[in-house]
Amino acid sequence: MSRVFNFSAGPASLPLPVLQRAGAEMSEHGNAGMSVMEMSHRGKDFLEIFRRTKQAVIDLMAVPDTHEVLFLQGGASTQFAMVPMNLMGSGGKGDYVNTGSWSKKAIKEAKRFGSVNVAATSEATNFNRIPRQDELRLDPGAAYCHITSNNTIFGTEYHYTPDPGDVPLVTDASSNIMSRLIDVARYGIIYAGAQKNLGPAGVTLVIIRKDLLGRAPDSVPTMLNYKTHADADSMYNTPPTYSIYILGLVCEWLQEHGGLAAMEEVNIRKARRLYDCIDGTDFYRCPTEPDSRSRMNVPFTLANPDLDATFLTESAAAGLVTLKGHRSVGGMRASIYNAMPEEGVAALVDFLQDFEKRHG
Ligand code: PMP
Repeated sequence: MSRVFNFSAGPASLPLPVLQRAGAEMSEHGNAGMSVMEMSHRGKDFLEIFRRTKQAVIDLMAVPDTHEVLFLQGGASTQFAMVPMNLMGSGGKGDYVNTGSWSKKAIKEAKRFGSVNVAATSEATNFNRIPRQDELRLDPGAAYCHITSNNTIFGTEYHYTPDPGDVPLVTDASSNIMSRLIDVARYGIIYAGAQKNLGPAGVTLVIIRKDLLGRAPDSVPTMLNYKTHADADSMYNTPPTYSIYILGLVCEWLQEHGGLAAMEEVNIRKARRLYDCIDGTDFYRCPTEPDSRSRMNVPFTLANPDLDATFLTESAAAGLVTLKGHRSVGGMRASIYNAMPEEGVAALVDFLQDFEKRHG
């Protein structure tokens, strides 16, 4: 068995050196005489792992002192509810930009706590683009504005930071967190499930502006109040220790590779190579508008869908796996997060060209 190039949308590939290091440390971490999974979250060994991981997140993303870094559970899906519960107040309002399924799920949860103004949507064109700033119809009564910075399913990504006026900007960055440098100061809340760019499932990274802590009404359960976790430095209850440890190793790997600016350059190169290949022929087609295209998730269809099954069988046989697209878009999707090496994208491009030669 050798490792394949895994184009899964998530859980997704992890850097091989991270897996090898975790493997070597599996039964004994440092001089602790036990694995990370077996450690008390309040013991000195784990607290050191936690401290280093949190610091690495702060350093990599240049998180300013105005913001707090939290490691929570429940996935990005729990954030869909926590954001309105904490920020809306009772009967409040939120602005939401609808760029497809994940935004819709966030909207559905927000409606349980107040009202939602859909400030813009690209639904009319099956979410093939990101609305522009001048299309946003913001509600002056909204408590915040929520976006999905990268839509994993439709393969769209913001290449600008929306300006929501005086209210905090909240972003679901699950599928492009740490793939590029962003100005954290421009956001009220950034949240992301870890299982695409950060590590294994089980930990949710939340970066929240400190003045937004403590806004939740008393009716909000303790565990769903951001202030609980900020006050206890993410140790109110047992945090997902092993996922945090792997996230720390992924951060070290990112630092060794030059940090997020360097990662962004590689990601631009990988995405361009793949989009250029798809755009260069009528045999394949990419449904997204060029200026809204995701660098992380690249959806494409075959001009002849009768070839889809053959494409998937042959690509898997070539060691290129999990390329089947999401049912709402059809065709294929290649997810090329940070941990997908350039050789993986090169191998996919070679396969695409070869497949066209044989079946075109
Ligand atoms: N938002 C986005 C953009 C996603 O891609 C996903 C998962 N694919 C989610 C939210 C849901 O994340 P989780 O499974 O961590 O709840």
